[in-house]
Amino acid sequence: MKTNKTKPMIIAMDGPAGSGKSTTARMVAERLKLPYLDTGAMYRAVTLVAIEKKIPLTAEAKVAALAAKIPLRFGKLKAGEQSVWLGRRNISRDIRTPELTAQVHHAASSGAVRSKLVLLQRRTAQIGGGVIEGRDIGTVVFPDTPYKYYLDADVRLRSRRRYRELKAKGLKATFAQILKDQKERDYRDANRKIAPLRKADDATLIDTTKLTISQTADIICDLILGQKPRLKSGRN
Ligand code: C5P
Repeated sequence: MKTNKTKPMIIAMDGPAGSGKSTTARMVAERLKLPYLDTGAMYRAVTLVAIEKKIPLTAEAKVAALAAKIPLRFGKLKAGEQSVWLGRRNISRDIRTPELTAQVHHAASSGAVRSKLVLLQRRTAQIGGGVIEGRDIGTVVFPDTPYKYYLDADVRLRSRRRYRELKAKGLKATFAQILKDQKERDYRDANRKIAPLRKADDATLIDTTKLTISQTADIICDLILGQKPRLKSGRN
């Protein structure tokens, strides 16, 4: 799907962790037959490689050099799932452990790392467009796209979603710990100096607290296709 002959369609989806944006973004991408780009996976992959190479996460220049040549690949989006690869190694699980999640903020708050990854994100999406998901897509990476959505939900609900996800994967977790982690991540994402998490002024805010993923995807697809949304945000 393209906006016109020369411009690929870029759909920016931002919001905090647990807002439903990843699953919604994948559903929107599948429905509109657009590529999907998970920018959070990029920050995660850089963090994983740095840890494995024993590069201190605070050594910005070294981590940025890694980011500049990371052999990252994304698998084909299939039934709402996408694998992440480092060369021939599938790192889909390794980048989502709670231990790694707790360390990603170092790469995410580094201007040097961000500029390398933003370049990569632009290069990737400029060819065929896509649904690009992250924290700064509407504000920094693709500020000119007219398709910007900011998903948010009550922090306790977001934590409950995350708790269920981790339990389903058989990982150890308590709700209280997840709620604390979530609040910490929200604070860090929103208060870092470079590219903090915030809604772009021209983004549409969608509160997903009372919406299913499918309802959220309906609203976004309807808005994109210029139709009246089937549901108002906030309605069940
Ligand atoms: O979305 P996900 O939770 O996988 O992102 C991992 C981390 O990467 C987030 O906590 C956030 O700090 C960071 N991130 C970012 N900018 C993006 C995407 C993710 O800072 N565009």
